[in-house]
Order: sequence, then C-alpha cells, then structure tokens
Amino acid sequence: MASSTLLQKVWNAHTVRKLPNGQTQLFIGLHLVHEVTTPQAFDMLRARGWTVRYPERTIATVDHIVPTRDVRRPFVDVMAEDMLAALERNCRDFGVRLLDLQSGLQGIVHVIGPELGLTQPGMTIACGDSHTSTHGAFGAVAFGIGTSQVRDVLASQCLALDPLKVRRILVSGRLAAGVYAKDIILEIIRRLGVNGGVGYAYEYAGDTIVRLSMDERMTICNMSIEGGARVGYVNPDQTTFDYLRGRQFAPAGDDFEVATRWWSAMASDPGATYDDEVTIDAASIRPTVTWGINPGQSIYVDERLPRPSDVEASSREALTEALAFMGFQGGDPIKGTRIDVAFVGSCTNARLSDLREAARVVRGRHIAPHVKALVVPGSQAIRQAAEREGLDRVFTDAGFEWRGAGCSMCLAMNQDRLEGREVCASSSNRNFKGRQGSPTGRTLLMSPAMVAAAAIAGEVVDVRETGAREVVGAH
Ligand code: SF4
Repeated sequence: MASSTLLQKVWNAHTVRKLPNGQTQLFIGLHLVHEVTTPQAFDMLRARGWTVRYPERTIATVDHIVPTRDVRRPFVDVMAEDMLAALERNCRDFGVRLLDLQSGLQGIVHVIGPELGLTQPGMTIACGDSHTSTHGAFGAVAFGIGTSQVRDVLASQCLALDPLKVRRILVSGRLAAGVYAKDIILEIIRRLGVNGGVGYAYEYAGDTIVRLSMDERMTICNMSIEGGARVGYVNPDQTTFDYLRGRQFAPAGDDFEVATRWWSAMASDPGATYDDEVTIDAASIRPTVTWGINPGQSIYVDERLPRPSDVEASSREALTEALAFMGFQGGDPIKGTRIDVAFVGSCTNARLSDLREAARVVRGRHIAPHVKALVVPGSQAIRQAAEREGLDRVFTDAGFEWRGAGCSMCLAMNQDRLEGREVCASSSNRNFKGRQGSPTGRTLLMSPAMVAAAAIAGEVVDVRETGAREVVGAH
C-alpha cells in the first residue's frame, strides 16, 4: 500500500462521496457546539422541520459570552443571557448534551474537548469557531466552520470540503529556557506569513514537536488558522495515548488498547510525500512578542520594531498601518513597552501547564501598580486543579484577578474588555484591531510566562531576564 499522510488517511476513512464540483462530502465524527455560532443554525433546522442527525456526536458548552466573575442567572448582560437561554432551549429541543455552568465540565470548547477525551486521533471534528484546529494536536482533522456549515453538520453530520495540500513543518533541536510552544507557532507564522497556509493542512513534526506535551501541541495547532492553514495536526504517539487514558469519554479497558492500535495506524507513514516541507531550528527561537495587528507581525523580545524602509514595497503599507494603529515607531525596541492590562487566558494558553508557568514567574512578586491583570482558566476543571495546587493564591497574592472559566478577554464578548487605547499583554491568539473589546485597544501576543513577567514589570520584558529563568521549562 502506498505511504500516506495522516490527513489522507483520515480524509479517506471519512469520505462519503466525491461531489461533482470537486469537493468531498466528509463525515464528521464529533461536532462541538457553543452559544455564538449556533442559534441561527438551530433556527434553520427548526424552520425546515429537521432534526439533529447524530445528537450523540454533538456536544455543547458555553464559553464566549459567559461572565467570568458573577455567573448567577440571569446574567447582568441581557444579550449573554439570551444567548445562553437559546442554547439551553436548542439543546433540550434537539437532544444535544450541554455541558453548562452547573456541570463542572464547562469551559472553552477547545479546552474541554481534549480534557474530556472527546477529541481522539483519527477523528474528523468540526466546530463553529476558527480555533478548532486545536484538536489536531491529537492527530484529528479538525475544521473551524461558519454558521451555515454548522447547520449542515447538525442536519447531516457531513461537510462539503475542498481538498487540502499538506505542508510538513519540521521543528528540530532544543528550545532554550524561557521559550515555549507559543514562541514556536509565532515563529512559524512570522516566517510563513498569515496567508502562507491557505489551501494547506500543516503537519507539525520533528524532534522538538515530539518532545512537547499535549498542552503544548494544542497551543501550536490552535494557531494554525492564524497562519492561514485550514487544519493543523501532530501525529498521535505515546504522549497522546498517555494523555487520553482514563479520560471520561475516551475508550476504556480493552477498547482503549484496540483504539490505540487504530490511532497508531492513522499516523503519517515514514515514506509519505508532502506538497511542501519547511524546517525550523528550535534552538534559534527566542521569546516572541507581536507588535502589530496580525499574529505574523512579531519580533523577538530583544529585537527592534521593523521600519517601513526595511521591508519590500509590497509589505510597506501594511507595516505602516500597523505601526500607526499601535502608536509605535519603527526602530524602537519592543522591550520596555508599557502595558495597561495582562491577560492569561484563551484556548491557546489557559491550560494547567500554562497557569503553572505564569505562576512560577509571579510567585512572591506583585504586579505593577498601574496594571490590571486577569487569569482566566480554560475550563472549570483547570480552575479546580489549579486551586488544588494553590495557584489561585499565587496569582491573587501577586495582585491578579482569579476568574471563572471562559473565553473572556480573548475576544471580549463578555464584560472583560480593554478600554480606549489600553495595551494588553495577552496569551491569546489574535491581535486584530478591536479584538479585545475596544476599537482602539492594542494587543501584544506572547507566552503566558511573558505575560506574567510583563504584569510584574508593568512593561514588556524578557522573561529570561526576570530571575524566574531557572524555573522556566524548556524542551
Ligand atoms: S478563547 Fe478566543 S479563540 Fe478560543 S474559542 Fe474562545 S474566543 Fe475563540
């Protein structure tokens, strides 16, 4: 049999039929649902008298709009209350399981899927959210979809999809202390561009990726979409299986061993061919900070901002626009940029390991007086686990606010928002204009440890120079 990539194997295993327009009708193994992109989709089903085709393959949670401070119902925010009430009604009417705020299992959809063992290798997964690529960390092929596609998956459990090419991104070598998975993916996006992955699936491979934990692999796959890739994945291996064993929705007993054999078989074959291949030297990566208005506009923390005269004419306009929006001057250092807000959260970096790294940086220190700092765990389970370790006290003693689980200031659909021209050091994934709730607010993306260090200093600093270096893990 010819050697294949994981993408080809999973794609073939889920193909219902080839459509006349060249697309493939693909069966979707797991449909994750949340309150923002589903009300219209459920309404469309209702209007046509349709049912949800496989309610047992559909799981809902609430994340984008939930308040992170006071979750008593009805919510203070009327629109948020309406959205959650609609999701509750839809799940009830259509027989979909909802992991709500009372369940103890609620959280950001891309955090709870893996955490509960719903996300498994070899699956096709869809969700009405761009960062569904996160689930690729398990060797799943996971698509972010729009509302009309949410309707399609609810009604048919299928999606019509264009074929994808596969780019293998080989990351090799040891990461330096203070350099994290977030820095790897920001490096990839900087090098390949925010549109570099259009038409591609990104397969992340190489010894650096193999050494990463599942949390770290999720951080990388999460931001595949920011590099334009439709999906991103890591081949399943022992790290994947160890993570999944014993999780609530993962196979148990003998079934787990059977599943592991099948999961292993779905990994890309050694002789598989790729449409493109890129190599990255992990040892050369330094802590990275975005300075602009897309995630590709980043520099190492010890570099200076690019000048319009430094770049090709085709990039000059975008660079000038980004500098003007941010109020930055080309040639200035990013280090020393004063921040107003520090946000540790989001489906990119709000897992337990992220909170541990941020806590190690802040332990025994206090945030700068002018900084507002939030820690928003990715799920209720992570919040509880962090509290069992005493991380909440580390953060609150340092002046951080310790919040409930949700998307929060990643996109500010709840009350956690930037105001005016505030600058936010953020562990999230998007620095687009207005992303964090203020049309003029400014976002600097970085690793959770770097966010924590910035909160303490009140400005962008190099986490390697904060004295926390000895406790910052490296691979
Ligand atoms: S944390 Fe941000 S990127 Fe992730 S699902 Fe929520 S809003 Fe989307």
